[in-house]
Amino acid sequence: MFEAQSSIPRATHSNRANLSNSSNPSNVSLAKRLLVTGGAGFIGSHMCEYFLERGWAVEIIDDLSTGKRENVPSAAVLHPVDIRTADAAHIVAHGAYDVIVHLAAQMDVRKSVANPVHDASINIVGTLNLIEALRGTSRARECRFIFASTGGVLYGDFVTPPNKETYPKDPESPYAISKLSVEYYLAYYDRVHGLDTVGLRYGNVYGPRQDPHGEAGVVAIFCGRILDGRPLTVFGDGEQTRDYVYVRDVAAATHLAATKTLPRREKLDSRGFNVGTGVGTSVNYLARTLLDASGTKAPIEYAPARPGEQQHSFLDATKAKEVLGWTPAMSLPDGLNASYEWFAARHRARAVTA
Ligand code: NAD
Repeated sequence: MFEAQSSIPRATHSNRANLSNSSNPSNVSLAKRLLVTGGAGFIGSHMCEYFLERGWAVEIIDDLSTGKRENVPSAAVLHPVDIRTADAAHIVAHGAYDVIVHLAAQMDVRKSVANPVHDASINIVGTLNLIEALRGTSRARECRFIFASTGGVLYGDFVTPPNKETYPKDPESPYAISKLSVEYYLAYYDRVHGLDTVGLRYGNVYGPRQDPHGEAGVVAIFCGRILDGRPLTVFGDGEQTRDYVYVRDVAAATHLAATKTLPRREKLDSRGFNVGTGVGTSVNYLARTLLDASGTKAPIEYAPARPGEQQHSFLDATKAKEVLGWTPAMSLPDGLNASYEWFAARHRARAVTA
């Protein structure tokens, strides 16, 4: 059923203390157990690394539809299955996880517009498959379920940023609707079934291994264009703003959300946390800063604004600071530099093997 990587003895709550851990003299594993869905993806791979560095045992569910095997850290166990399947439900039900970080998703807004049924089948029904599997276990209330929601497109255009968690939600795409729907389901499972759930509303996440189709895809697109010696295309006047947050900072926020004692959920937003910098950054600034990082002078071309694109979106992350103790550590210029360097190194490596 599973590939070789995942054919490990399945841990159960009762036998987990017997799983070996060579760094532990009593040969009793004290490692906390994490399941990351979407762990072969951009954010997921950084998430796995971050938790592994802190001594967690990490497993991944990922069907590799957009994720890559090469992103999976060697110390993590990959289950290459679709979250909508009985196999995925079986893994959740029998894994004795302390925390599940649910990142697997159809995350391309344009694809969600083209095919809302497909988007909902993964983002809503696939998520329910996992939560229902968890609900049916004796550990349902002990395993924290952390969901990767979105701060970028949840609040819509009718509020003035920085957006607070309690602001009215006005999602404008099937993708954003799917994220808000899951947050409502989480609140339901919390209230009615006593599950321990958290919704992290990430801003526009950027960094090494980023996919050009994600919410902060513009950073990856610009890096690719600079390295190919092509002009950068900016839609509209380039003054539209987003909250760009570095991927390691997102992993750090998620780790805090996994380990902190949190107040019980009362309302939809009580367990919702914005994860952003609080700063709106324009596309023009991104283009200029990445050109500076590259030391090149590729031209910037302006094209008509894309219909329906939000003008300004950035997040008030005060609650993440106060409750989780999280603040972003990476400055935007340093993060963009690090991202450009990663894309440039990959570009050089590909040129050598071509
Ligand atoms: P990504 O595409 O790199 O990662 C998603 C992963 O999920 C991929 O590895 C993919 O193979 C896997 N996946 C997709 N469908 C699956 C399925 N049916 N079964 C199993 N695995 C499946 O995207 P990302 O940017 O790393 O995003 C991760 C999560 O964070 C998503 O839920 C996304 O909506 C959310 N998010 C991302 C951003 C951002 O700026 N990138 C912002 C807010 C929220």
